[in-house]
Amino acid sequence: MPEGPSIVILKEELALFKGKKVIEATGYAKADLTRLKGKKITAIKSWGKHLLICFKTCTVRIHLLLFGTYRINERKASNPTLRLSFDKDELNFYTCAVKIIDEPPDEVYDWEVDLLSDQWNPDKVLKLLKKVPDMLLCDALLNQDIFAGAGNIIKNEVLFRTHLHPLSKVGKLPLKKKKELIQEARQYSFDFLEWKKAYVLKKHWLAHTRKTCPRCHIPFIKAYLGMTQRRSFFCNNCQILYE
Ligand SMILES: [Zn+2]
Repeated sequence: MPEGPSIVILKEELALFKGKKVIEATGYAKADLTRLKGKKITAIKSWGKHLLICFKTCTVRIHLLLFGTYRINERKASNPTLRLSFDKDELNFYTCAVKIIDEPPDEVYDWEVDLLSDQWNPDKVLKLLKKVPDMLLCDALLNQDIFAGAGNIIKNEVLFRTHLHPLSKVGKLPLKKKKELIQEARQYSFDFLEWKKAYVLKKHWLAHTRKTCPRCHIPFIKAYLGMTQRRSFFCNNCQILYE
């Protein structure tokens, strides 16, 4: 599943569509696409894993889910979920979830929890964490209401960087560690973005999909943990369990 930084890259790629008028909107998305015809794109935004194509009176929200893809001025063999045709250009989205939102994005989205937003606010994130003391770290880092944009890679890497065991409970962390976790989630998101742009993301993974802890030189544990049951890679020796 594409994580927040990958959606930021997509947003940047689509920046040139700002100001362009939709000639036709088609696809098998369960949304009234005819509404978009003749409308001009006012902005391309992202919030966490959502891409937002904004118009004056509505916003198209695209979530790429597990296998979503897109093509700019190209077509895949399969039918698109959404195709936006412009005077000269074309945008195609495949296997994704598309929804048209009527409310302004500022009313729907809390930019303060979006890890890559200029408005990201660590104090707000800390407050939200204080409300979920029993949540496991492996679930908290995947919670989009707290860490919007974080996915499984960010989760595994941030827990490793901060020496935190994925089964630690949020409320058992000393304040200093909580703050460190929040800052590292932000920092790693930007590192992810930079490395992804340079096509070197994977080689920088320290824990995700790795077999050996680079700090202790012992095998990593691989397990499907928490409510989310997503793959965790962690070291029982140097990642501390707060329970
Ligand atoms: Zn270790």
